Amino acid sequence: MQALFALPLSESFLRVGIFALCFTGFALAELRWPRRRQHVGRWQRWPSNLGLVVLSTVCLRVLLPLGAVGAAAFAAANGVGLLNRFSLPFLADALIGFIALDLAIYFQHRAFHRVPWLWRLHRMHHADLELDVSSGLRFHPLEILLSMGYKMGVVVALGIAPGVVLAFEVLLNALAIFNHANLALPARVDARCRAVLVTPDMHRIHHSTVPDETDSNFGFNLTWWDRLFRTYREKPIAGQLGMTIGLQTFRSPRWLRLDRLLLLPFVDDRPHTESPAHEATESTEQGLQPPQQERRQAR
Ligand SMILES: [Zn+2]
Ligand SMILES: [Zn+2]
Repeated sequence: MQALFALPLSESFLRVGIFALCFTGFALAELRWPRRRQHVGRWQRWPSNLGLVVLSTVCLRVLLPLGAVGAAAFAAANGVGLLNRFSLPFLADALIGFIALDLAIYFQHRAFHRVPWLWRLHRMHHADLELDVSSGLRFHPLEILLSMGYKMGVVVALGIAPGVVLAFEVLLNALAIFNHANLALPARVDARCRAVLVTPDMHRIHHSTVPDETDSNFGFNLTWWDRLFRTYREKPIAGQLGMTIGLQTFRSPRWLRLDRLLLLPFVDDRPHTESPAHEATESTEQGLQPPQQERRQAR
């Protein structure tokens, strides 16, 4: 087992191979078993969503080439980090590292919703008008860079092993594709999965236009943190088929263009009154402020 996690070669091959397999598999599955009828199709959304992946990858390679696995290797080589101070059995070490990293990502996600300037970056992920496999890859390059910096810090502070970090990143990527998919899982399978893993029905609630729902279900991998910290929501108020996805503003097709998406964090805090892309929604300023502030102002 340890040898598997210590494999030095073909890290990129492993990442790209599993990514391609998951993306293709779930993209085909959501075509065959769609959960919701989509009003804005793949042709309108995928070029920008996939373009963001390319841009983010280039930014990471140029600006943070070490990456989280490199940071973990540095920590291991120099005996830095909490876990490197103890000689725990490998499986215990791996499990603690994996769970701690998932918890750190949960709190990072909550911070991106709470802190106004972080929300400006993260709202681009929420502005997608539909959810499917491509939405799981749709993050602003600045959010990707910040997330990587944070993850590298956590990895070094805790001394998580490089193989565990690699496994975590590959799984996080695969699960992000899975839990953003427009995929209809049988209710029983969904319920069983949710005991541990975030399912598409669970994460979709996080993409609701209703601020209370946007501020729920922050987990990406494990569902435990949302249950433990009381941010778990089982169902959306309007139901899975009736709920509206996205933000109440940024509903015009112009916000689907890649250049607009990159500029979205820097748009002024003023109302946008463009005509909606599909269904009509209330015209408010959601998306310009963190959802908590939306609620406070609504009271
Ligand atoms: Zn979010
Ligand atoms: Zn999401």
